[in-house]
This record gives sequence, structure tokens and C-alpha cells, in this order.
Amino acid sequence: MKFELPNLPYAYDALEPYIDEETMRIHHEKHHQAYLNNFNAALEGVKLQKEYSAEEIVKKVKELFPQDMQQTVINNGGGYINHNLFFEHLGNANNEPMGKIKEDIIKTFGSLENFKTEFETAAKTQFGSGWVFLVVDENGTLKVIKRQNQNSPLMDNLTPIIGLDVWEHAYYLNYQNRRPDYVSNFWNVLNWEKVEKNYQKTLKN
Ligand code: MN
Repeated sequence: MKFELPNLPYAYDALEPYIDEETMRIHHEKHHQAYLNNFNAALEGVKLQKEYSAEEIVKKVKELFPQDMQQTVINNGGGYINHNLFFEHLGNANNEPMGKIKEDIIKTFGSLENFKTEFETAAKTQFGSGWVFLVVDENGTLKVIKRQNQNSPLMDNLTPIIGLDVWEHAYYLNYQNRRPDYVSNFWNVLNWEKVEKNYQKTLKN
């Protein structure tokens, strides 16, 4: 099995001034590509019984891979799917929360502002490299969670709807140590139409 690097659904400079072109280029062409290459290399080392999606492979890492390979798949398979989510739901759409996700965020967190505050606080306080996600748990409940490194929420049966990369490589060229500014600006480049689509996929009538 071999996975590919998805093209960005927008130009490298489309997220300016919030995320600069050079950061986007290096992040996509070098970092994302490297996770993908290492993930594909790890997959060459095993014979899987059937075709799995990258998400399924990460979710089932403990049953599909011998122990000495699991961390490589968690790091690089996780890195691959986390970045797919991240790049896919960005854009300079300048749109607002909409649809069912808006409704359920308000129901769960009390207001959009409360949700944004909780999400931003998690992103600003994640110590070291990692991610902040809005996820849906097995009962359909929305939650804000942090994860270290490239650990995917899927390993804990949580489906990510929004993912914010807070590794320094995601912002350092433009923001240096000012992670809080990068985090606040995330809302300017999040495409809520894509977020709503991600959420709809998790809803079972
Ligand atoms: Mn990254």
C-alpha cells in the first residue's frame, strides 16, 4: 500500500497575511511530504490482509503492526492524516460557522465564543509540539482535546473535525515565539464549510 500527498486546495500564498507563503510551502512540501514518505516506508515492511485507509491504519496500529514498528506508524501515519485534515480545512474563505456544527458547538459549549476560548487556551497551553482538536466521541459529543507530537485522536476512538497544528514548524518563520497570535489568527483561515462537511460525515441519522 502506498499513500500520496494531496495537493493544497488553494495557493501557497492564499492564507496571507495570517500564514505566510514560505511557511505553507515548507510545511506542505517538506514536513507533510516527510511524514508521508516515512509512513509509506513503514508500510513496505508489513503485509496487510486488505486495503485500509490511512485513518484505519492509524486507528488499528496496535493490531496491524508488530510492537517495534508501532511508534513509527503513530508518528508518521499520524503526521500524514493530521496534516491532511489541517491543510484540507484551511482557506481564506473568511466564512463563519454554519449549519449543524454551529448548532452543536453552541449547544455543547454555550456559545461560539466559549468554544473559541477553550480551543485557543488548549492551543496556547499545549507544552511542546502537538495539536489541538475538536473531536466527536463515540456518543456523538463534541470535545476539545490536546495531543502530543503526531498522536491521532483516532487511536482513542475520537474523530477529529478541526485540527490545529501547534508545532513550531507551523508558525515560527512568521510568528517566532508568538504562538498565541498564530492561534488567534487560525479563525481567519479556517474554512467552516469544510468543517461542516467533516462533521456531517460523523452523523448517523
Ligand atoms: Mn505540521
